[in-house]
Amino acid sequence: MFKKILIANRGEIACRVIRTARQLGIATVAVYSEADANARHVRLADEAVLIGPAAARESYLVGERIVEAALQTGAEAIHPGYGFLSENAEFAATCERAGVVFIGPPVAAIRAMGSKSAAKSLMERAGVPLTPGYHGDRQEPEFLAAQAALIAYPVLIKASAGGGGKGMRRVDRAEDFEAALASCRREAASAFGDDRVLVEKYILKPRHIEIQVFGDSHGHCVYLFERDCSVQRRHQKVLEEAPAPGMTPERRAAMGRAAVDAAKAVGYVGAGTVEFIANPDGSFYFMEMNTRLQVEHPVTEMITGLDLVEWQLRVASGEPLPRRQDQLAIDGHSIEARIYAEDPDKGFLPSTGRLTHLAPPAASAHVRVDTGVEQGDEITPHYDPMIAKLIVWGADRRQALARMRQALAQYRVVGVQNNVEFLARLIALPAFAEADLDTGLIEREHEALFPQREQVPDEVWLLAALAEVERDQRLAERAAAGASDRDSPWRRFDGWRLNGRATRQLLLRAGEVQQAIGIESQSGGGGLVLTLGGQRFDARASLGADSELQAQLGERRVRAAVVAAGERRHVFFEGRSWPLALANPLQAGVGSNEAEGSLRAPMPGKVIALSVAPGTLVEKGGALLVMEAMKMEHTIAAPCRGRVKSFHYEPGDQVGDGADLVEFEPVA
Ligand code: ADP
Ligand code: ADP
Ligand code: MG
Repeated sequence: MFKKILIANRGEIACRVIRTARQLGIATVAVYSEADANARHVRLADEAVLIGPAAARESYLVGERIVEAALQTGAEAIHPGYGFLSENAEFAATCERAGVVFIGPPVAAIRAMGSKSAAKSLMERAGVPLTPGYHGDRQEPEFLAAQAALIAYPVLIKASAGGGGKGMRRVDRAEDFEAALASCRREAASAFGDDRVLVEKYILKPRHIEIQVFGDSHGHCVYLFERDCSVQRRHQKVLEEAPAPGMTPERRAAMGRAAVDAAKAVGYVGAGTVEFIANPDGSFYFMEMNTRLQVEHPVTEMITGLDLVEWQLRVASGEPLPRRQDQLAIDGHSIEARIYAEDPDKGFLPSTGRLTHLAPPAASAHVRVDTGVEQGDEITPHYDPMIAKLIVWGADRRQALARMRQALAQYRVVGVQNNVEFLARLIALPAFAEADLDTGLIEREHEALFPQREQVPDEVWLLAALAEVERDQRLAERAAAGASDRDSPWRRFDGWRLNGRATRQLLLRAGEVQQAIGIESQSGGGGLVLTLGGQRFDARASLGADSELQAQLGERRVRAAVVAAGERRHVFFEGRSWPLALANPLQAGVGSNEAEGSLRAPMPGKVIALSVAPGTLVEKGGALLVMEAMKMEHTIAAPCRGRVKSFHYEPGDQVGDGADLVEFEPVA
């Protein structure tokens, strides 16, 4: 076994690898970019090497620099994680040449599976079933359009070098093919440096079922069952589970065999995943093979009781696989939810910022949180916006689901937009509970998943007010204890004291709605009387250091959390979060009339195309400009019928978050 390894990655996966290495007594070397100098993976590793500036292209993707770091620190092997260089055959070859073990498959296997097109040809020869389509070398638009017509619409254009759901366009009509192809090519060229594509039949109502395989250098290969990753947005997984609901032992064995055949066809060694797309009738087609550890590997670990990173390290150091196929079994059910810094209401656009408050549910034998960040860390625009993976185990699917529901209800994130509540709604869908799964679930359930903004419940206003009183009191006590902070904000509330008889009014805001809460202290005992909308409530509360609030509202005892961030007050109550704000009565209304659909950059990125000429009349929703951010294209659309007066940027320009992009004039 190795004595020291280097991890050529960041975020949760780097932390995940470090955890197992430590258990096995292996020293770890982290690499990091300037943006990650303080990142969790750097804090956890035994040593860390700075490899370059924030941009991945200049740091995490510079193979030579990373291999050099391994040589400098005496690391014998490199774990590439997923993403970045994990499926880069050149990098694996560079490691090999330098005499450093690449913890992954042989260069030839990565190469063989690196292009979805070439992999499909190879699988065709190995007798693995394929999605109908064209995956040859010809790339002329007219030829590909003709192939699409032959396959019959809808079709899917995919970047051969694609991954992470990027570089994919569904096309429903022949007249849209050319534009979709051009946009797909652009995204592929920028994200993968390769604009070749393939065209496939778009399967309707499919499930994504993948098989975990493992090979060793002694000629063994096993499969560790399947994962169902059908719940996706933007062709990217959001929820994953194992085993796949409804899977029969016969089909599992058939898919397992097909996956092992696929792996053997390329002389596979290490962890790999063979992804299939399954028709409603159960028939399945090979989609691609990911020659690395998968993001969702923990669900397999939870149902097999194995540590897949440990297997990777053993296999890479030349040991045989720890188990034979007949020694592997499934125990229970596991579900993973990817917690992302993103805004579900804005098309899942990544969100960046500091995690001013981050409280995941407590880890236990049944609840696991894999993360690369802690409270106070920042989600930057440079890398993937995943905050954590939340994984639960249950004796059966129903129990796993119940645990997931509870864990999500406890998850608190403040500082970035995030998908925690979206996930909670998702797993609460009857269709999900009944395992009526396919990749269209999120779109189909749009109404339930994106509800209209609801009215803030009375309890939420009251809890926010109680927390405010507690907070003020704490400040007052601190000041009274002799602190010399004469400017402390509590002084604004002079004239109001808990043990006095004064009444105070607190003004809170939720979006456009403003609410006044009267706060009156009861003489003796520390109880309060709150008034809200003409109703009176007896209340008392205590606020913990972690923002947790225990409160008594009339006869009811409730637990909540109220997190303060600047003027904002995030109330977490009964599995929901309510972003409120303190409203200074003198400034009421300020900031509430920000135009919806303003034509600002939703995040830092690059302008790649202007879709219309200035002066053109555009209908509501029409494309105005295309930006690229986090390797994905985002179209800035007209908020209403109108005319572009001018563009403030040219294609190729970098723009900051919130940059004013377009001067737009509504036309009735
Ligand atoms: P998987 O295929 O493992 O289920 P995805 O397809 O969602 O997962 O994402 C894998 C790809 O997405 C990677 O190859 C990488 O391009 C990108 N990716 C996702 N998360 C990260 C991350 N935290 N760091 C780097 N790359 C990531
Ligand atoms: P990536 O490399 O980005 O993971 P995949 O080829 O694995 O790309 O496809 C990602 C997702 O896109 C799949 O999980 C599936 O939901 C969807 N998808 C892929 N191919 C098809 C298809 N032919 N028809 C319908 N959906 C598809
Ligand atoms: Mg895939």
